[in-house]
Amino acid sequence: MKPAPFEYVRVGSVAEAVGALARYGGEAKVLAGGQSLVPVMSFRLARPAVLVDVNPVAELSFLEPTADGGLRIGAMTRQRRLERDPLVAARAPLLAATMPHVAHPQIRNRGTLGGSLAHADPAAELPCLAVALDARFRLEGPGGSRWVAARDFFLGLFATALGEDELLAEVELPAWPAGSGWAFQEVARRHGDYAQVGVAARLDLDGGGRVRQARLVYLSVGDAPVDAARAAAGLVGEPAGREAFAAAARAAEEDMEPTGDIHATAQFKRHLARVLTVRALTEAVARAQPGAA
Ligand SMILES: Cc1cc2nc3c(=O)[nH]c(=O)nc-3n(C[C@H](O)[C@H](O)[C@H](O)COP(=O)(O)OP(=O)(O)OC[C@H]3O[C@@H](n4cnc5c(N)ncnc54)[C@H](O)[C@@H]3O)c2cc1C
Repeated sequence: MKPAPFEYVRVGSVAEAVGALARYGGEAKVLAGGQSLVPVMSFRLARPAVLVDVNPVAELSFLEPTADGGLRIGAMTRQRRLERDPLVAARAPLLAATMPHVAHPQIRNRGTLGGSLAHADPAAELPCLAVALDARFRLEGPGGSRWVAARDFFLGLFATALGEDELLAEVELPAWPAGSGWAFQEVARRHGDYAQVGVAARLDLDGGGRVRQARLVYLSVGDAPVDAARAAAGLVGEPAGREAFAAAARAAEEDMEPTGDIHATAQFKRHLARVLTVRALTEAVARAQPGAA
C-alpha cells in the first residue's frame, strides 16, 4: 500500500520544527529516519496530515563527551554511529554492544536514536537501554526546554511524555561508574528481528564478591521497558552467583506482564526472561571489577 496523502515540511532548525509542530497541532508527525513511521504510514496505520522533516537540522545531530564522564547525544544521531563511535564504546559500552541487535545495518544507517525512543515500541532495544543507563531527555516545545528522565518518559504502548508540539532534541547519559559490569541478552527468531524478550543488566561488586548495586531492565514483557527494581535491590549484599541470580530472575517476573503472540506464549516469554536474566547477570559479573566503583 501507499501512504495517504500528506503535506511535507522541511525544517532547518529546532525552532522551526517546534513552530511547525505547534502550527499543525496533532495533525503533524516528525520525520526522523522514517524506519518506523514510513512503514506504518504505508500500511495506513498512521495518517498524519503533515510530516515535519528534521533531517536537515544540524543541531540535532551530535555526539559529545560531558565534563563528568557522560555523553550528550543529539536525537538525530543515526543508530549506526552509536554502534561504531569509539566514544560510545568507551563511555557507554552497554549501549554500543547492544546496537547490533537493533534491526539490520541498512535500517541502523538511517534510523535515529530519537526516532526509536519517541516511537516507544516495547520490543525495541533503545528505550530499554535508556532506562537501564539512567538517561534523561531534553524535550523542546513552544514554551522552551524541559528535561524528563527516561524512566518517566515511556508511558505505555507507543506512548511517551512527548506533547504533540514537542520535539525530542537530546539524550544525556550520566558517567559510566568505574568497574561496573554489564550485559545485554535477547532472544529473537532471526537476528535483526524484534526480540521476543531482552534484558539489560548492570552490576557492581564489592571487594568480597558481593553485589553492591544492580540493575535489570527488560523489553517485550510489558507495554513499556520494565525496570525490575525490586528484584535488582534483592541482589544487593548477596554473593554474586547462580543462586542469587536465579532468585532475582524469579523476583523480576512479578513486574512483568508479557502478552503472547503467534511466535511465543506469555508463559514462554516468562521462561525466556528467567533464563536471560541469569545469563546476563553472569556475563555482567565477568566484566565487573570488584571494589572499583
Ligand atoms: C524491518 C525492520 C526491523 C526493525 N527491527 C528493529 C529491532 O529489532 N529493534 C528496534 O529497536 N527497532 C527496530 N526497527 C525500528 C528502527 O530501529 C527504527 O529506526 C526506529 O524505531 C525509528 O527510528 P527512526 O529514526 O527511523 O524514526 P521515524 O520512523 O522517523 O519516527 C518514528 C516515530 O518517532 C517520532 N519521532 C522521530 N523523531 C522524533 C523526535 N526527535 N522528536 C519527536 N518525535 C520523533 C515520529 O514522528 C514517529 O512517530 C526495525 C525497523 C524495520 C523497518
